[in-house]
Amino acid sequence: MNLDNHIVSAGSTVLLKDHDPDDTGKYKSKEDAAKDLQADVETLTALQDVLYAGNSHALLLIFQAMDAAGKDSVIKHVMSGVNPQGCQVVSFKVPSAEELDHDYLWRSLKALPERGRIGIFNRSYYEEVLVVRVHPEFLQKQSIPGDDVKGSLWKKRYEDINAVEKYLSRNGTVILKFFLNVSRKEQKERFLERMNTPEKNWKYSAADVKERSYWKEYMSAYEEMLGSTSTQWAPWHVIPADHKWFTRVLVARIIIDKLKSLKLSYPRLTEQQQADLLKAKESLLRE
Ligand code: ATP
Ligand code: MG
Repeated sequence: MNLDNHIVSAGSTVLLKDHDPDDTGKYKSKEDAAKDLQADVETLTALQDVLYAGNSHALLLIFQAMDAAGKDSVIKHVMSGVNPQGCQVVSFKVPSAEELDHDYLWRSLKALPERGRIGIFNRSYYEEVLVVRVHPEFLQKQSIPGDDVKGSLWKKRYEDINAVEKYLSRNGTVILKFFLNVSRKEQKERFLERMNTPEKNWKYSAADVKERSYWKEYMSAYEEMLGSTSTQWAPWHVIPADHKWFTRVLVARIIIDKLKSLKLSYPRLTEQQQADLLKAKESLLRE
């Protein structure tokens, strides 16, 4: 699978119409991809164990998408084999009054994964240049001082975000970002399914249908955000999302590829620690 097809080059102009949500790569069917996904889930389990033991890096996975693109399902499937002790999922909703009393990155920085862990952001501070950009009236609640609430605000936010992500990556947090690219047509199908299936009714929200009417505005906000905040240290990936099974297998592969490139290994004991271990072992055996 050519993973480079899905990565957004830093500083590039992104046109989402050039990214096919219906793409399934080399796979013809769900069954075709299932075996690879199973193997990848096992590989990821093993890699997470080394990440946890090494305690040097954290892995931050950021998921952004329109509603019903499959964020929850990709997180559930790709992470199905990982040790829950080494993994945390944080979902970011409309900010609370307390959160609005702080700068816009505050709640996310508090939720970052520790070294050795995988942290998953289901939505993130990127909402601040997406939903807030589409609905600039949300900015009023943020009490930003001075003239900042003007044209250059979004550019400044991209700069803030790139700088913070660079800082994090220099300090051991590996960042991968995924935009699940679902088509407007497929979103409609998924909304209808939520409406028509009693077990899925709870997932339906009137707000989702309303947000859908801003599709064009969201796509331009996504395009600019992807081009402006995809960096070498925290790249964005545009993931075709009309077939959930392909989304999963592709995301799993990108994560594995990254973890492997870190060449992580289990910590080695120092000579002194090894000698202590032998002593302790002998004493145990003498019992
Ligand atoms: P689900 O799949 O369950 O619908 P979800 O991520 O859409 O998952 P919701 O509770 O439906 O969760 O929606 C969260 C809402 O919070 C989204 O509409 C999102 O745009 C909004 N939100 C998140 N962060 C911010 C923010 N910083 N400012 C304003 N709105 C935000
Ligand atoms: Mg929702």
